[in-house]
Amino acid sequence: MSTTYQIQQGEWLKPLAEKYKGNFSLDVYKQKLKKANPNVDWNKIEKGDIVELPWSTSTKPTFTKKTTSKKSTNKVKKKAKNKSNKKKVVKKIKNCKNKCGECKSTWDSSTNKKIKLLHPKIRCNAYGLINKIEKDLKIKVRITTGYRTIAEQNRLYAQGRTTPGKKVTTVIGGRSIHNYGLAIDIVEIKNGKANWNTKWKEFALIGKACGFKWGGDWKKFKDKPHFQKTFGYSSLKLLRKAKRNEFDKDGYIIL
Ligand SMILES: [Zn+2]
Repeated sequence: MSTTYQIQQGEWLKPLAEKYKGNFSLDVYKQKLKKANPNVDWNKIEKGDIVELPWSTSTKPTFTKKTTSKKSTNKVKKKAKNKSNKKKVVKKIKNCKNKCGECKSTWDSSTNKKIKLLHPKIRCNAYGLINKIEKDLKIKVRITTGYRTIAEQNRLYAQGRTTPGKKVTTVIGGRSIHNYGLAIDIVEIKNGKANWNTKWKEFALIGKACGFKWGGDWKKFKDKPHFQKTFGYSSLKLLRKAKRNEFDKDGYIIL
């Protein structure tokens, strides 16, 4: 029994273990959490990150949870009912061993080409995301943008500013995570056409399980199609690396 859980403000390993501590020592809960999340760096965990709780948050009497006891059972039930759709997705994520889809070619050849150009460290996450959305939600999504060169980014930035057209980006070359092959934009393909009115929240859940941060969580510019994995680096830090020429032999930034 386990539960997919979104990290709240100020939470990390110890507070999370304390929150669910029952009849065993705190260390037991910490170890259980670590074991259930082998890929999670608990020192870098942030609000909104997704982890796996190796226990149920609702049914086990041996675990105490303060917040649940405050609420009436009816209220909890009602809330659970409202979230039934979300829960279905979460359940499907739980059933997947590595919490992400399979690291193999997707249904879409143009997506596969784009993934092959991404930073090698996120290719598997990208394959997983596309494959898992298809498998769990029966929705085909395509990567519209993956790696984008700094020159291309500058050209796009100029559009709507110094060159004709609509503004398409808010950042100059070197300040987009796409410039390092660490971000993807996706869209649903329905009857051969892009469908932007799609299940972004469900995509986000799967994306997070695949190790990505979701652009829909940004405070200023909500960028729902956007998913990125930066290994803790901001675009500014990546740009500094680029200026120091920290590239591998294939031209990817060294992380
Ligand atoms: Zn993007």
